[in-house]
Amino acid sequence: KEEMAEVSNAAKTPQGPIQVPTRLLMGPGPTTAHPRILAAQALPLLGHMHPPFIHIMDEIKEGLRYMFQTESPYTLMISGTGHAGMEAAIANLLEPGEKIIVGVNGIWGERVADLAERYQGDVIQLKADPGNTFSIAELKAAVAQHKPAILFLVQGESSTGTHQALGDGLGEACKAAGTLLVVDTVASLGGVPLFADKWGIDCIYSGSQKCLSGPPGAAPFFMSQRAVDKLKGRKTKPATYNLDLNLIADYWGWFKPARSYHHTGVVSTFYAMREALAIVGEEGLPAMWARHLAAHQLLWKGLGELGLQPYVPDAKDRLVTVNTIKVPEGVDWAALCKDAMDTYAVEVAGGLGPSIGKVWRVGVMGFNARPMAVEQVLTAFRHGLAKQGYKQP
Ligand code: PMP
Repeated sequence: KEEMAEVSNAAKTPQGPIQVPTRLLMGPGPTTAHPRILAAQALPLLGHMHPPFIHIMDEIKEGLRYMFQTESPYTLMISGTGHAGMEAAIANLLEPGEKIIVGVNGIWGERVADLAERYQGDVIQLKADPGNTFSIAELKAAVAQHKPAILFLVQGESSTGTHQALGDGLGEACKAAGTLLVVDTVASLGGVPLFADKWGIDCIYSGSQKCLSGPPGAAPFFMSQRAVDKLKGRKTKPATYNLDLNLIADYWGWFKPARSYHHTGVVSTFYAMREALAIVGEEGLPAMWARHLAAHQLLWKGLGELGLQPYVPDAKDRLVTVNTIKVPEGVDWAALCKDAMDTYAVEVAGGLGPSIGKVWRVGVMGFNARPMAVEQVLTAFRHGLAKQGYKQP
């Protein structure tokens, strides 16, 4: 009784039902979720070890094999956002003292360099100017010179809007040097082509809230046989318990059919991902990539008509999914973002890291990679620029 009397009501709990405004999310992510995916997420919970739930996990593993274009059985979802996928890749594949070459041309490479240092890697930063990518020749030369344990690259650098090429024998060059090729596809998976096996990639992580049109909270993850051999042959335990893939693998049945508990899988988010992968399968990757490309082209046609210019100088380096648009002289980028939100409930974003103050970032991803959404962005730009008295050059 005394304890009951001691309860303080100074802090207020939320009052009434939750209110969420409807917005068109056209920034770098999350993107607007597909309604069917949101509906899947609202289904009743299952226990994270119940056979019907294990069946859903198996469907996800198989769907991810399609997504990554791999025959490797080693796919799963990390319970966590893209950063958890990033940390899982580095923490499990790098041992203390080993060399890692990190391609840094935006904030994602910077973060991986930081992360790899925390896991006591010997970090070699290969730098490119923001808005540029690495040539396959320079990557091959760096790998041959340093023979690192890992070469890390970002396929879709969402802070600068670049698309890193990954084919042309890069995977073979890594294999020859005993290097694992690790790739961030958070902002690109499902929006642009990716072939894990054909390109000889060893580890890929992604995110659920971009081209897959799901809620954030689960990271698609892939390992090649070479990566799994490295994981199994480690001399030291990974310095993370939460993201130790030896343990997570036994929850996902990588090495034996029986499942063991490591953590409670994010049940509802996995439902969402199961549904997202079903939707991808129904559309098919070629159609999905073509739809993203068409939305990107429609966006740039409209932006060009407004006199706006791409931030990424070389057309071949431009990312389809996250588009970086130069802010013209005298235009207040933040005021335009605010106007887009206030007037049209459309989210467009400013820059990040090296592109802060220089660009807007517009995502055409997943559910929003379609003309209706792109035209709303163009309307918002037209209105926001006119409001600032912008005159086309
Ligand atoms: N890598 C890239 C390329 C990204 O765009 C993002 C998210 N913007 C991340 C990693 C991190 O993902 P998350 O925010 O889901 O942790």
